[in-house]
Amino acid sequence: MILNSLLGYTGNMLDRADHLRRDSAAIHAARMHPTARFLILEDLKPMMAEGGAELFWARRSECPEGQQVFLGLDSQGEPRFAVDGKPDDDLPCVATDARAAGAILADGRAAIIAQARSVLDWHRRHGFCANCGAPTRPEKAGYSRQCDACGAEHFPRVDPVVIMLAEKDGMALVGRGPHFPAGFFSALAGFVEPGESLEEAVARELHEEAGIRVHSVRYAASQPWPFPSSLMMGAFAQAEGLELALDESEIAEARWVSREEVRSVLRGEGAWSAPPPLAIAHWLLQTWAQQP
Ligand SMILES: [Zn+2]
Repeated sequence: MILNSLLGYTGNMLDRADHLRRDSAAIHAARMHPTARFLILEDLKPMMAEGGAELFWARRSECPEGQQVFLGLDSQGEPRFAVDGKPDDDLPCVATDARAAGAILADGRAAIIAQARSVLDWHRRHGFCANCGAPTRPEKAGYSRQCDACGAEHFPRVDPVVIMLAEKDGMALVGRGPHFPAGFFSALAGFVEPGESLEEAVARELHEEAGIRVHSVRYAASQPWPFPSSLMMGAFAQAEGLELALDESEIAEARWVSREEVRSVLRGEGAWSAPPPLAIAHWLLQTWAQQP
């Protein structure tokens, strides 16, 4: 059993309370409730409490104008919302890069950032109907947008991405994208395309990017990655051979690495560097390296 709370941006402890979303009176009452709190995101950067490692939850009276999304109810049943706006300068909070905040909040609170950031970003980019081009308006407490011109209803998107380690003879394949810094290697990854399974996407991406054929693809764990709305699905696959043929537009450099080498790298003692613990690529490398 995978403990997904170990993965960055997972383990959200809010009750999303979907049944309230369709009830506009209930959402209004939740918003007006004295215990309601609002996570402000300024240009998609969540507010952290000044000088601390906590999310900053504003009161309604401190809340700027802007698109709101109902996040859910906390463990006390108190309503939580996200709002896209700029807080007053005198509030004791600081807009924080969502990756940096995600790395600090490792216990499930980062998942709230993922939820808030992805949905608010979606509202920013979907003000017009993809079906007919007319303006749309938010509905269901921020979980859909309605087009009154053609009747279409649009929902926040989630973009599936496969991220995988191919393995062969005790070695795993890591690669460096053309935009990665020198010496930085990660698991290979790519978007799932329409009309294919996760397993097929893993096999296709490894063949396109590295020229290898794989079999026995095993799904391992997943992670939301709110930049803007990916769902990273981690997998392992067995390669049929070690010979590589790189697509250099996608992969500048790739190498087969041993478990011992990966363990050194994850201790910060290796010849190359790997993604930080926030990223599922780190978890895949760690999980693989821990195997005997
Ligand atoms: Zn429309």
